[in-house]
Amino acid sequence: MRQLFVAGNWKMRLNGRQSIRLAGRLRERVGDVTDVRLAVCPPFVYLKSVAELLSECSIDVGAQNMHAEEAGAFTGEVAGPMLLDVGCRYVILGHSERRHVFGETDEFINQKVLKALSLGLEPIVCGGETLSQREAVQTESVVSDQLKSGLAGVTAEQMAKVTIAYEPVWAIGTGRTATPQQAEDVHALLRALLTEMYGADVSADTVIQYGGSVKPENAAELMAMPNVDGALVGGASLEAASFEGIIRAAQSARK
Ligand code: PEP
Repeated sequence: MRQLFVAGNWKMRLNGRQSIRLAGRLRERVGDVTDVRLAVCPPFVYLKSVAELLSECSIDVGAQNMHAEEAGAFTGEVAGPMLLDVGCRYVILGHSERRHVFGETDEFINQKVLKALSLGLEPIVCGGETLSQREAVQTESVVSDQLKSGLAGVTAEQMAKVTIAYEPVWAIGTGRTATPQQAEDVHALLRALLTEMYGADVSADTVIQYGGSVKPENAAELMAMPNVDGALVGGASLEAASFEGIIRAAQSARK
């Protein structure tokens, strides 16, 4: 039985004061929610203060990225042990902006996934096709390849700590959402692939979030789909009211 999981990706959007204010509001509004798993992912520099503020409530904290090495001469990078040190439970890996803006490869993302798991961090492993790939009917092959390479070397046991996020690139930050059926089709495909890779039990327990312009207005219909197990939310996670709206939709869509 999967518990829905809603995570907010704050990207590089809020300053320190705004981050603390938003975290405080979320603590008040949804800090007691336990039937849906919740996380926020602030910028690195605010992780510690947000994690401290949320420490007594049910909202966990994740980072938006990490390096694959534990330490070393990697100027400007942040390592997994540092994320644990400041109170992170999760780390988003393979976000489309990391892939397409910063040129991260499937191999590099896989190294990070393996490192995160070995350290006890829970990765949210993202993938999704671009508009031109969708138009060229390549969605299936693109997301399948991303899933297989992202999870290479991950054991069935470790999958209990892995969340998958399907995020069509054309829907991220564009206001253009996949229809519930478009999302469900890809989620069902990913779940079938997980069954091939890990067997039916692991597959049935793996949370597959949808991400791409999720808002309170469309969250319920997306999460009503049988294989859509929550949301990875960018823009709508920056306001407490809209993030709460998505969380409430998840609560009523429990699977
Ligand atoms: C994201 O950043 O992962 C995302 C889905 O953004 P948005 O909700 O703004 O499309």
